[in-house]
Amino acid sequence: MFDSFNREINYLRISVTDRCNLHCNYCMCGNEVNFIKVDHILSFEEIYAFTLKAVEFGVTKVRITGGEPLVRKNIVQLVSMLASIKGIKDLAMTTNGILLSDVALPLKKAGLKRLNVSLDSTDPEKYRQITCGGNVSKVLQGLEEAKKVGFSPIKINCVIKESPDETDAKGVTAYCNDNAFAIRYIRQMNIKEGKFWPVIGGDGGKCGSCSRLRLSSDGKLYPCLFSDKVFSIKELGIERAIMEAIKHKPKAGDRAGNEFHTLGG
Ligand code: SAM
Repeated sequence: MFDSFNREINYLRISVTDRCNLHCNYCMCGNEVNFIKVDHILSFEEIYAFTLKAVEFGVTKVRITGGEPLVRKNIVQLVSMLASIKGIKDLAMTTNGILLSDVALPLKKAGLKRLNVSLDSTDPEKYRQITCGGNVSKVLQGLEEAKKVGFSPIKINCVIKESPDETDAKGVTAYCNDNAFAIRYIRQMNIKEGKFWPVIGGDGGKCGSCSRLRLSSDGKLYPCLFSDKVFSIKELGIERAIMEAIKHKPKAGDRAGNEFHTLGG
């Protein structure tokens, strides 16, 4: 399906929870003041039904994100439900990797194809500071396990202030080179001011070729992270929400992404 600017819309990002087990100092995930009420969170069946319809509309790539997707109970079951949908060529997940070591194999067996793991520093103290208490060795264990069970490629998302030459980013780059992981540098966005940049080594942040729709964990469909346009699948129904989101996808993001914390970046 093409939008009004002739961009093919084939990529769906699904936020399965707004909860997170880390509190990165630049990120609004896990901001408890704004937590979505538990009974508003989409069930697996609702996510499945939505995705099935989105695939009919031309989606071929699906990414599971959050909050932190691995804190959602029985996430492996959702992965296997989505993996069963014919027409999805690429099923991926973005995770902070803290809980990855125990579920890497079940995720692989359930049909997850690709993993992106967020890692801004390999230095334990620095990681603890950035994430507000996170233990980097858990992430490294998770990555080791993911590699062992055969995820390939594994991509690392590394948030930088300005440049990949910063000390923390250089450490992560060296670690990626040693382990044959790909790395994408995401320049820290200013959510409130709607400031964002193209991802270095990835395709996020490029409005002219944006192919994405984003589903929040409470069933809101966003055509753009940096726009206040939103279409509720509960109020409009799945089909109409998809059609409206594609029709109203803006040419470019231009304002604060108020719901960033529920959408997984
Ligand atoms: N919890 C998962 C994780 O850590 O990968 C998925 C959600 S997280 C919001 C997705 C990505 O967004 C992470 O790589 C995170 O570093 C990035 N992110 C969050 N806030 C950001 C910001 N202000 N600027 C740039 N990237 C940001």
